[in-house]
Amino acid sequence: MKTFSIFYLVLLIFPVAGITQGGKKKLTHQQSRPKNIILLIGDGMGTAQIFAGLTANKGWLNLEQCSFVGFHKNQSADNYITDSGAGATAFSTGKKAKNGAIGVDALDKPFPTILELAAKHHLATGLVVSCSITHATPAAFIAHQPSRTMTEAIANDFLKTPIDVFIGGGKKYFNQRKDGKNLCDSLLKKGYAVTNTLSEVVKINSGKLAGFIDTAEPPRVTAGRGDQLLKSLQTALKILQKNKKGFFLMLEGSQIDWGGHANDSAYVIDEMIDFDKAMGEAIAFAKKDKNTLIIITADHETGGLALTGGDMKKGLVQMKFITKEHTAVMIPVFTYGPMASTFSGIYENTDLFKKMKNAFNF
Ligand code: MG
Ligand code: ZN
Repeated sequence: MKTFSIFYLVLLIFPVAGITQGGKKKLTHQQSRPKNIILLIGDGMGTAQIFAGLTANKGWLNLEQCSFVGFHKNQSADNYITDSGAGATAFSTGKKAKNGAIGVDALDKPFPTILELAAKHHLATGLVVSCSITHATPAAFIAHQPSRTMTEAIANDFLKTPIDVFIGGGKKYFNQRKDGKNLCDSLLKKGYAVTNTLSEVVKINSGKLAGFIDTAEPPRVTAGRGDQLLKSLQTALKILQKNKKGFFLMLEGSQIDWGGHANDSAYVIDEMIDFDKAMGEAIAFAKKDKNTLIIITADHETGGLALTGGDMKKGLVQMKFITKEHTAVMIPVFTYGPMASTFSGIYENTDLFKKMKNAFNF
């Protein structure tokens, strides 16, 4: 009998999920909305890439700390196999685009991105990548162009949104342009700190940051990029968390895909583990902050990778690629934090946008 009375007492004290009171939906603690969202995209990161990294890391990755797993179907508007432009556009706008398109729907009509919506709602916004900042994945969150190859037009679009922080390579698309414009001057006029190297980036603690770390594409992690992704994330978090309303940050482990295209096992593993360090940092931030939703996924798989042998204790893995291109398989979505459970299940890649918009209550 005692258990029954305690049970009813618990019911009286804690509001029940989804109960409607005066027309407003009451949310329990577990379902409370996140103040911040960190979306982490491993370009070309399918389950085999993840497990190759996990094996090389002797049996564990940071992403295993996530609480929920879902899968997304990533076919683009015009192809069974997506590219990174259409893949990221699905996440950023909720629209299926043609391969190669950036921030537009299948008819090349522009749609606001989750980053632009966050900025409109006075949240801080950021993009951190290990490629050029105008590359397809980051571009899809801030630019609206029919083709990913229009890198100078994409660079122009960075000046149309009040983004707080962006860190990556590709400075030449801003200051060595065919049209003769110097967008770095325009960024300075808008109050951005404009950098050339990572050591300059990490010194910035507040304000707006155009964090260039390279004129073109940064090298692979083992060829001199080092801990750029981790340090860039730490810098971005330091600046973005100063906004009391919250923030949206997209971080990309950009070169897992390039390792796949090159059918280079070591390249895939090194980039996978580099990306996992960033995931660990993001999850640690969310654990401390308690108001941050972490979403980890990929746009598509690259290489048709299979793991044909390995030794978890020795951290050895044998890998075989069947193509130098992308493949069509479903991609996992790992989540942690407030509303993480709403990302479980199997859905279209465009639903990621809807789920993030719902989590932010936009
Ligand atoms: Mg990419
Ligand atoms: Zn690719």
